[in-house]
Amino acid sequence: MRRPTVEVRVGKVPMGGNNPIRVQSMTTAPTTDTEACVEQIKRIVDAGGEYVRLTTQGIREAENLKNIREALLRDGYDVPLIADVHFNANVADVAALYADKVRINPGNYVDPARKFRKIDYTDEEYAAELQKIEERFVPFLNICREHHTAIRLGVNHGSLSDRIMSRYGDTPEGMVESCMEFLRICVKQQFDQVVISIKASNPDVMTRTVRLMASTMDKEDMHFPLHLGVTEAGEGEDGRLKSAVGIGALLLDGLGDTIRVSLSEAPEKEIPVAYGILQATRSRITKTEYISCPGCGRTMYDLEQTIARVKAATSHLTGLKIAIMGCIVNGPGEMADADYGYVGAGRGRISLYRGKECVEMNIPEAEAVDKLLEIIDRDRK
Ligand code: SF4
Repeated sequence: MRRPTVEVRVGKVPMGGNNPIRVQSMTTAPTTDTEACVEQIKRIVDAGGEYVRLTTQGIREAENLKNIREALLRDGYDVPLIADVHFNANVADVAALYADKVRINPGNYVDPARKFRKIDYTDEEYAAELQKIEERFVPFLNICREHHTAIRLGVNHGSLSDRIMSRYGDTPEGMVESCMEFLRICVKQQFDQVVISIKASNPDVMTRTVRLMASTMDKEDMHFPLHLGVTEAGEGEDGRLKSAVGIGALLLDGLGDTIRVSLSEAPEKEIPVAYGILQATRSRITKTEYISCPGCGRTMYDLEQTIARVKAATSHLTGLKIAIMGCIVNGPGEMADADYGYVGAGRGRISLYRGKECVEMNIPEAEAVDKLLEIIDRDRK
């Protein structure tokens, strides 16, 4: 079951609560280059991206979000824009005026970036830093409240503050506490438009930390949505597999309200992978689901060709589960929860199933795909 979360409004596309798990990507062009960003954002949206994040390293970049949005709106694109801010709380304040959501990193929001110094903090010094964070963070929350801007607290493995490192080290507990310190301030300020992410490039660290984050929030009665991603996942098949393992494992736990697959490729390439992970975990269904056996010595027909033919005929039937099984011996039993089954019954002969019930027995292979479509059409009327 999906973990219950509060709804967070990000422009016109809300997330969390009962909303579909959202898919997002990030531009790679400089945020001062309006034209290049707009072109990339359009490609991301055309591929199905629902939010687009832009790196916002300075005031100039934050202010240019306005021009980028105007250019997008002129061309009919009203995708929510997310500013990604590190190391500079003043930039976050400006970004909150123009973006629908601002990501800040608790590891470097107020604390100076990690200096790799071993520092021992007394309890008083530790409390004083927390106080300093609160004093800087609350005005930012007020700007966000006034402009209906959501925030994301995005912690990354490897970018924790010296203060957190001194107590927890670079551990899942440290990453979670880094986030909790900020969340407690949000709760105190009754600001609930907050999304959390904890990312690592190692799916094992990432999954353990996000699970710890979710259980820690539960203990403090917090229900903020989660953004999932494996950072620096790489490219090609390796990057896709790493993302699928990390993001997929958490989705199967019922965790996650938005996902980003990070690939060292053109940003729009991330989108189909994200939808593939959502479909494989049945977290968000956007296409026909196919269940097919690997084939073996019992297979009664050319499996690959048949799968291609069945797919071509049924790929528009979003949400249906169709099994293509090589033989009658094991096929019907192993086609799991398929709605329909196409099963090899003998040389050149096919049996068709509705669920576990055989509805056409031993029909000629040449007629089977049409017959399957006929049955589905009749059932859907
Ligand atoms: S369903 Fe039949 S053909 Fe397919 S792998 Fe199993 S035994 Fe082999």
